[in-house]
Amino acid sequence: MLNKEGLILELEFYDRGNRYDVNVSNHVNLICRKCGKIGDFMETAPFSSQMIEEQTGFRPEGMRFEYYGFYKKCRRRKKQ
Ligand SMILES: [Zn+2]
Repeated sequence: MLNKEGLILELEFYDRGNRYDVNVSNHVNLICRKCGKIGDFMETAPFSSQMIEEQTGFRPEGMRFEYYGFYKKCRRRKKQ
């Protein structure tokens, strides 16, 4: 059930035009498990593509950070 919801959210996310290969700007997505709102938290990712390539040989072309939770209005009486 939860997995299904997660999948739907992900598809909606792609519909918005955010894709792995386009997402050059580092930011964190804040995804509400209740209303499905996806917010942006504009902070730089904790490590660079260059650092990853130097250490692993893998060259990332995009990245996505996601936090799942609840916005304030969706958090009422919800025990986390
Ligand atoms: Zn919400």
